[in-house]
Amino acid sequence: MAQDQVCGCEVDETAAQFKSEFEGRTYYFCTAGCKAKFDSDPSRWAREPAIRSV
Ligand SMILES: [Zn+2]
Repeated sequence: MAQDQVCGCEVDETAAQFKSEFEGRTYYFCTAGCKAKFDSDPSRWAREPAIRSV
């Protein structure tokens, strides 16, 4: 499983509909909203650890 860098949830990369490439890595997202946040400022999201609310 891949981790959604925006909200921290786990995403099945084989089934992911939302993904972005940044600096040679592929990032996966649970929703279009998470992808949109990442795409608006990828360097921020790619470097900070995903927020864990648990
Ligand atoms: Zn998400």
